[in-house]
Amino acid sequence: MTSSDIKAKATEFGFDICGVAPAVDHPELKFYREWLERGYAGEMAYLHRTADRRADVRQVVPSAQTVIVTGTIYNTDRPYSTESADPNRAQIARYAWGDDYHDVIGERMESLLSWMRERSPEPFAARAYVDTGPVQERVYAQHAGVGWIGKNTCVINPEIGSWIFLAAIICSLPLEVDAPSLDQCGTCTLCIEACPTQAIVAPGVLDSTRCISYLTIELKGDIPATHGAGIGSHVYGCDICQEVCPWNAVAPKSSAPAWQPRPAWDRVDLLTLAERTDEALTAALRGSPMKRTKIQGLRRNVAAALKNVGADPRVRPGALSSK
Ligand code: SF4
Ligand code: SF4
Repeated sequence: MTSSDIKAKATEFGFDICGVAPAVDHPELKFYREWLERGYAGEMAYLHRTADRRADVRQVVPSAQTVIVTGTIYNTDRPYSTESADPNRAQIARYAWGDDYHDVIGERMESLLSWMRERSPEPFAARAYVDTGPVQERVYAQHAGVGWIGKNTCVINPEIGSWIFLAAIICSLPLEVDAPSLDQCGTCTLCIEACPTQAIVAPGVLDSTRCISYLTIELKGDIPATHGAGIGSHVYGCDICQEVCPWNAVAPKSSAPAWQPRPAWDRVDLLTLAERTDEALTAALRGSPMKRTKIQGLRRNVAAALKNVGADPRVRPGALSSK
């Protein structure tokens, strides 16, 4: 079983790109601890807890020799948030519009791994992860030739841009590896300039505590007053630093049903979202990555966003609290 065999099979399973990186001590892995020490992880304690394992995949699979990285396009035909002039539009990160990628991609990765186990003449050790594992997927993606890590910290592929879900299989097979991707950001700084909360503190360095994705998804409790205005009309995540990236100007779109926007989130305005009942939101959150914030978190974000655009008297009393 060669790398080419695995890549061909990955295409059959619906992955748009696949590469193989060596499971070695890549220099980019080392910055992670400094990033944690600077406090950029905020309240995400699990990032501290898994720091040892995140430092090297061989902490997870001791016999690891290679990391197979897949990328799946989730971009759809809806316009970018920066193209909408309507401040009342609820902004939701593109990756969260459809089905939960952990489930969809997770199943595909398990299928790929099962096929590899059937095909391999020898047993081998392996673990598959989709975002949730203790793996610095982006570093391995860069070394697998899937794309370079841009100044906005996203993995960018020169052909398909950065609207891609990454997933990885750490394995003990001595597969042929790919050439690493070369940084093609050049002198561009559009993402750094466009970030509304100045969360990209240096090229490729994100202070999560300032990032709208962290503030609207990971942060528990109230959004600090100092950051409330910064989230604008974002109610779940933020895409601005990817939308302004020239490599996404003509990014290909996926027609996969799994990534198409659910009607509940599709170009919805803040008031409509605020007035949804708990029952309606529960139904919309089922099988969606947005269930991470639960209804309470989503309502908190909608309330903050409504405040930013000027609360409207049409909102029913109590519409902003969980019922
Ligand atoms: S996701 Fe939004 S807030 Fe976070 S770094 Fe990008 S532009 Fe800034
Ligand atoms: S906007 Fe420019 S600097 Fe930022 S990631 Fe894209 S190419 Fe790199």
